[in-house]
Amino acid sequence: MEKLSNPQKTIEVIQKYSFYFQKKFGQNFLIDAHVLDKIIAAAEITKDDFVLEIGPGIGTMTQYLAEAAREVTAVEIDRNLIPILHETLAEYDNVTILNQDVLKTDIAAIAREKNGGRPIKVVANLPYYITTPIIMGLLESQVPVDCIAVMVQKEVAQRMQAGPGTKDYGALSLAVQYYAEPYIAANVPPNCFIPRPNVGSAVIRLTRYQEPPVKVKDEKLLFALIRASFNQRRKTLVNGLKNSSELPYGKEELLSALEKAGLPENIRGEALTLEQFAQLADALIRE
Ligand code: SAM
Repeated sequence: MEKLSNPQKTIEVIQKYSFYFQKKFGQNFLIDAHVLDKIIAAAEITKDDFVLEIGPGIGTMTQYLAEAAREVTAVEIDRNLIPILHETLAEYDNVTILNQDVLKTDIAAIAREKNGGRPIKVVANLPYYITTPIIMGLLESQVPVDCIAVMVQKEVAQRMQAGPGTKDYGALSLAVQYYAEPYIAANVPPNCFIPRPNVGSAVIRLTRYQEPPVKVKDEKLLFALIRASFNQRRKTLVNGLKNSSELPYGKEELLSALEKAGLPENIRGEALTLEQFAQLADALIRE
């Protein structure tokens, strides 16, 4: 079959099945072969790889993945797309389609069954309304994933990659960077999709660390500190943390922990590196 990255072919398939786009599912289908090549290259897919694709749509990226990888499982929530996928992927015998919500899918079980429990790759043009739960779910869970290469909203990609002191730096940057090394592989304009989204997009690759880059005694405390610091971004770190309902610390205790961590008392959360947040978390542990 002719590739769906040819916009004419995509339109033909959509018309043949009278498919209607559902906004609630974040449906923007790729129609640019160059962008698809970039995603496959960013994920460094080889014939050894098992790939999980989230939201195959009509199968545009799935066709590329099926050719590059050993095996692909594609999880699609919209049942109207399933008969279309069976047609557009008919010539590939290494693709499994699951009609499921990815947030309710047991990905660890898929990795066990399809890849003997070895780390899998996740590649997707993500539905933007659930980008963060999908990515954080993959990073925080025990699912063996070593590479996530995904299309996301450009602004979200920038937040994931941002460093201290920049306007995009926040809880998402630190949460992602605790688990993985981010790299923005391409910026993608709205005209590469049908229908066009009203935001710019970017391909980001997250390469998972074997071990987090910082060691901390209490991971939950680290993330509570990070959340509280950025909830009250304009305040000094001490005031932000003191006012947080999630944390039990008073001003004196916070000031003494800052000193122990070698941080000035009027510092703002947005100036701290991941390592400094980890030092502060350790300094707050009551012996
Ligand atoms: N991969 C296709 C492409 O690049 O042309 C489609 C990408 S489109 C941005 C997102 C896809 O994710 C849609 O097909 C949508 O139906 C699907 N989707 C949305 N929510 C989902 C969910 N919770 N679980 C699985 N798939 C979902």
